[in-house]
Amino acid sequence: MTINTTVREAGFLPASRIASIGVSEILKIGARASAMKRDGKPVIILGAGEPDFDTPDHIKQAAWEAIQRGETKYTALDGSPDLKKAIREKFQRENDLAYELDEITVGTGAKQILFNAMMATINPGDEVIIPTPYWTSYSDIVQICEGRPVLIACDASSGFRLTAEKLEAAITPKTRWVLLNSPSNPSGAAYSAADYRPLLDVLLRHPHVWLLVDDMYEHIVYDDFRFVTPAQLEPRLKARTLTVNGVSKAYAMTGWRIGYAGGPRPLIKAMAVVQSQATSCPSSVSQAASVAALNGPQDFLKERTASFKRRRDLVVNGLNAIDGLDCRVPEGAFYTFSGCAGMLGKVTPDGKRIETDTDFCAYLLDDAHVAVVPGSAFGLSPYFRISYATSETELKEALQRIASACTRLS
Ligand code: PMP
Repeated sequence: MTINTTVREAGFLPASRIASIGVSEILKIGARASAMKRDGKPVIILGAGEPDFDTPDHIKQAAWEAIQRGETKYTALDGSPDLKKAIREKFQRENDLAYELDEITVGTGAKQILFNAMMATINPGDEVIIPTPYWTSYSDIVQICEGRPVLIACDASSGFRLTAEKLEAAITPKTRWVLLNSPSNPSGAAYSAADYRPLLDVLLRHPHVWLLVDDMYEHIVYDDFRFVTPAQLEPRLKARTLTVNGVSKAYAMTGWRIGYAGGPRPLIKAMAVVQSQATSCPSSVSQAASVAALNGPQDFLKERTASFKRRRDLVVNGLNAIDGLDCRVPEGAFYTFSGCAGMLGKVTPDGKRIETDTDFCAYLLDDAHVAVVPGSAFGLSPYFRISYATSETELKEALQRIASACTRLS
């Protein structure tokens, strides 16, 4: 059901730009799972896209001190000088990228950064290439901006990564952007320097195409994977690349709502125009907290990632031990995106046939009381996403329940 049908039923006519945007499958499953929980069912929710850790104390302390200093007023439009300096240092230190302060923008979450970028650049009918599985907001934001998402299926056989051939074939004179996300929500797949190279070579041949990279999960990578970002790998593309990042996932700060980006000056300026009419500026207190996050100790990131890695291994091994499931080992983020083709065509104990990944996830919720999100919500089936940003005890229990629910299928 789209927002359009929901609001039309209430006798209200929405703008056409939101007509085809659906209510997020993730939110719908979350709402159903929470309702079941309220009814006393022991539901384990593996749907949330946020770390279960708390925001570190030194970051909270910085926010409190900012309040006491009276930093409770509007700040500079697209980020306080202090935060922009901390971001400039972060890009230099961690990504070997040099951005001037006026090539940096700060918004109310990386989501607003993406929104500002699309609002500032998309004309009706402009095309935006988005590999699937994708974070659903990408296509919804493009559609709100009256652009056309061009979805390219990138399944497990290509490691859920876009290939140069597919990218080349998708580019048209109307292509404005390519959106890449590494490590990815929902697949956890990440692009190494070698994976990026052929894509960047394609982009070098198409100067009208801009590149937006979402590096939100930069710090959550495993084993010996080395995180890299395209503007660092290919300086010739830097003038048409927007490098998006934020504090939500790395520093467990989802509720503080601070995201940022580095990019070419004219784009950053145009994005500020959008932001000036939407929010005036990001929260002053959250900006002060984010300065402490970026400038402060970074060693806890390693410990947290080590803990995520234990959970990743637990979940991947648990899923692959189940007949009919096939889970690729993700390089990063805190999600697994497991194939469930082997479950299609099976029948539940009460006689329902599982035709799709949505049916499979509904069965897991009803029978095993485990909430996971079907691949269809991310534009690629038949798969399902587990967010393992929860305790090992809960994950073990959830895996046991999934395994036993699967054995009850015939
Ligand atoms: N990009 C990706 C890939 C995400 O998963 C998320 C959050 N789910 C965001 C961006 C947005 O993060 P925020 O708005 O909290 O900064």
